[in-house]
Amino acid sequence: THFGFKTVAAEEKVSMVAGVFHSVAAKYDVMNDLMSMGIHRLWKRFTIDCSGVRPGQKVLDLAGGTGDLTALFSRRVGPTGQVVLADINESMLNVGKDKLRDLGLVNNISYVQANAEALPFADNSFDIITIAFGLRNVTDKDAALRSMFRVLKPGGRLLVLEFSKPTQEWLSKVYDVYSFKLLPAIGQLVANDRESYQYLAESIRMHPDQATLQQMMDTAGFAQTSYHNLTGGIVALHRGYKF
Ligand code: SAM
Repeated sequence: THFGFKTVAAEEKVSMVAGVFHSVAAKYDVMNDLMSMGIHRLWKRFTIDCSGVRPGQKVLDLAGGTGDLTALFSRRVGPTGQVVLADINESMLNVGKDKLRDLGLVNNISYVQANAEALPFADNSFDIITIAFGLRNVTDKDAALRSMFRVLKPGGRLLVLEFSKPTQEWLSKVYDVYSFKLLPAIGQLVANDRESYQYLAESIRMHPDQATLQQMMDTAGFAQTSYHNLTGGIVALHRGYKF
């Protein structure tokens, strides 16, 4: 049946995503710098700047992986604030933990293994939630957005940083060649793992475009949703509020 097919596909996606991130965890940061030519750092800084984060606030870095955003937030919220790095994948969490501890960031960070679709936090817990390059990997994105809405405090904001759709036709073509030909080749060469980076390219292609994601945030209950294209729409930062 159609329902049966969907269930199998969802289970397959969950185990495939788990396999991909167990496999890439150790080389994740190096590959990020390499594949984006360092530009992911600028996208992440922009996200922090748009978050309006202030000292003392409580932040959830969902699908936080190796903790780039957590590190930036940790410094901004200071000793009276708190950052929770949540990720479904133990390998990614462990790499993140080690990295942040090496950076000397220990006092205001906690680590939680959790699925974005069913967050293990009380209602109205966080001032800010970010999910960077994570929503794409989640099987039931609508459930995840509802779960984020629930744990966000009234007045709080959600920021979704994710690959999106290039706004120019020529860029779209260049980017297709890059992601479907070059990316898997780099993955093979540097990480000896062509398949994970093939998945990356395919998951980017499948992900909802700017307007669709905005609509999904509206449906989940977020108010005043908007988005900002970065690098010609290769990436977009979506923002929404809970009122
Ligand atoms: N946010 C980090 C960054 O920007 O560098 C890591 C992004 S990484 C591409 C995607 C992360 O999403 C992985 O660490 C993966 O384990 C996590 N993830 C995938 N599915 C998830 C889910 N359902 N719930 C929580 N995290 C998930």
